[in-house]
Amino acid sequence: MTTVLTPASPLTAADRCDRCGAQAYLRVVLASGGELLFCAHHGRKFEPELKKIAVEIQDESGRLGSTTTATAADDER
Ligand SMILES: [Zn+2]
Repeated sequence: MTTVLTPASPLTAADRCDRCGAQAYLRVVLASGGELLFCAHHGRKFEPELKKIAVEIQDESGRLGSTTTATAADDER
């Protein structure tokens, strides 16, 4: 059985920061196989720590910067 990394799926409004419950913009994949979700604020705050333990950091906080709705929101409610 080959191990194929699941393609990172975009974070949606259903993904919540583990710390504060805000919408998550960072997905941190841990070496242990676990996953953490953080909002842009906490992602930035814990970034130095996360970089030590993460095998992958999916950062979608860039989407926060622009308020233009060039692309339709995934799951706006
Ligand atoms: Zn947060």
